[in-house]
Amino acid sequence: MFTRTRPQDAKKSVSEMVSLAKGDPISIEWIAIGIYKLFLANDMRSSQVENRFWNRVSKTDRCWNWIGATNRYGYGKMMIDGRRELVHRISWRLAKHREPRNCVLHHCDNRRCVRPDHLFEGTKSDNALDRHSKHRDAVGVRHGRYTKPERTARGVAITRSKLDEEKVKFIRDNYQTIRPYKIAKLLGINYTCVYKINKGETWKHVGV
Ligand SMILES: [Zn+2]
Repeated sequence: MFTRTRPQDAKKSVSEMVSLAKGDPISIEWIAIGIYKLFLANDMRSSQVENRFWNRVSKTDRCWNWIGATNRYGYGKMMIDGRRELVHRISWRLAKHREPRNCVLHHCDNRRCVRPDHLFEGTKSDNALDRHSKHRDAVGVRHGRYTKPERTARGVAITRSKLDEEKVKFIRDNYQTIRPYKIAKLLGINYTCVYKINKGETWKHVGV
C-alpha cells in the first residue's frame, strides 16, 4: 500500500487520506476488525429488534397475540430501521431464519397471532382462497366498490360503452312515449339494456 501522498491520491476518501498521512497503510487486520465490528453491531441490533418484538407478545394456550400497534386491517406492525413491517412476517423470519418468499398466512385466522406454528407461507392466490374459504372477503360496505367508488369504472369511463349520459337521460325521458324496442334500435343497443336503464338497475350514477 501507499506510504507517501501523491497527486493521484487526492481523490481518495478521508479515512484513506488519514492513513496515508500517518504513513500507516490500511492493513488486512484493520479491515478484519472493521468487518467484525460491523457484524457485532448488526447482531446487537437484531437482538434489540427481537427484544422489542417479544416484549409486545402475549402468549396464550392457543395463539400468541401481538399487543403492540396494528394497522387498519388488524395486523400487528412494528417499525424496523424506519420501515413498517408486519409482525407475523417478523415472527416467521425469526423462526425460519430466512425471508418469507410469499405471503405469510394464518392457520388460526387471528390477525394478531405471531405463533410460528400458526403461520404458513402461501401465494397471493392461496391468500385469496384462504380468505374466501373462511368467508372473510370484503363484501357489502367493506367492498372496494363502496370504500373506493372512484376506482370502479362506470358509464362513459368504460371505453366499450355504447351509451353516454345524454343517451341514458333520453331513454329515461322517453320510455313512456317511445316503445322501448324502438329506443333500443335507435341507439343500437339491446332491449333489456333499455329496460334496465329505465328501472335504474344500470347507470345508477346518472340520476334516475
Ligand atoms: Zn394463532
